Amino acid sequence: MSTIITKVDAFLLQVPFTGILRTGIDTASPSDMAILLVRLTTDGGLTGWGEAFGHGCCRATKEAIESLVGQALIGADAGDIAGLSLRLQQRFHLFGRTGPVRYALAGIDIALWDLAGKFAGLPLYRLLGGQPREAVPAYASLERYGARETLVAACERAVAEGYRAIKLHEIDIGLIEAARQAVGPGYMLMADTNCPWTAEEAFDKARTITGCNLRWLEEPVWPPEDHASIATVRRIGTKTAAGENMVSLMEFRNFFEADALDVAQPSVAKIGLTETLKVIALAEAFGVTVAPHCAYFGSGYLAALHLVAAMPGDILFERLFLDFPASPFAPFTTAIDGTIAVPQSPGLGCEPAAEWIQHG
Ligand SMILES: [Mg+2]
Repeated sequence: MSTIITKVDAFLLQVPFTGILRTGIDTASPSDMAILLVRLTTDGGLTGWGEAFGHGCCRATKEAIESLVGQALIGADAGDIAGLSLRLQQRFHLFGRTGPVRYALAGIDIALWDLAGKFAGLPLYRLLGGQPREAVPAYASLERYGARETLVAACERAVAEGYRAIKLHEIDIGLIEAARQAVGPGYMLMADTNCPWTAEEAFDKARTITGCNLRWLEEPVWPPEDHASIATVRRIGTKTAAGENMVSLMEFRNFFEADALDVAQPSVAKIGLTETLKVIALAEAFGVTVAPHCAYFGSGYLAALHLVAAMPGDILFERLFLDFPASPFAPFTTAIDGTIAVPQSPGLGCEPAAEWIQHG
């Protein structure tokens, strides 16, 4: 079957959710999740779907796909994933190693992998070398509530829903301690702070937080690329995680060489699946665990799900703790007893129905 790309489309979906909007994401609507999808069409008739990051940046990324990046794909061979990943990054690097143009490339890369799975007749996680499996364990990635009562109630609900690990987004140490008290000492707890502190502040926080026994403290330092200071946080005695703001294999290498991380968190909707696979191999060489970042709910979510399913052991899959009355990617966006079902159809294994994209 011919695999020449003939068409590139972008669709911006607004999917209603219930929950509390996290500060800093800047979604256009406080009650809708923005999901930016990329669709590649080949002359053989197959289509591949990807997702490009995200949230308040979706419109800018959509413009990058439609006015710039998409045109470069027409006539390319969809089977040349590694070559396209390299050539497109080289061609567009002067527009930034991260941001809307790079996110557009990531979405296209995911769509190429969806096509590869369909060409092979395999679900993506099997194409990537994973053993057959029905589901993967997930952690509840809570919003930043900033209030003890709401936070404790959310923790209790996550436990009741069957999650065995919870990630907070609080930056108040007292709230992190309250969450630890609420779930008890044996429960797996993480704290994602999204780069709020100077290096000196982060060192102080790391000293006071050691009693919380966190699985990891995520992105404690501003700016996110300050690997030397995150390495110091780790030496103080708190396990560290970062990666969603890293732009390439080379930046992960800087963190690994500085002994800065216990857990690396590449984001497929930001850097693509091809680059993420390189990060996983490098992380293994440095003895660093990989737990992909996944703060989205479209084809990038599915790609991260397949990636986790393909990895040996029980890597925890990140699922934002929001509820969707309806989802274009149901049932795979719903956790059941703390686990997420893995799609078994070829490629990503799930596509949005026509009614979701007709207004995209
Ligand atoms: Mg994070």
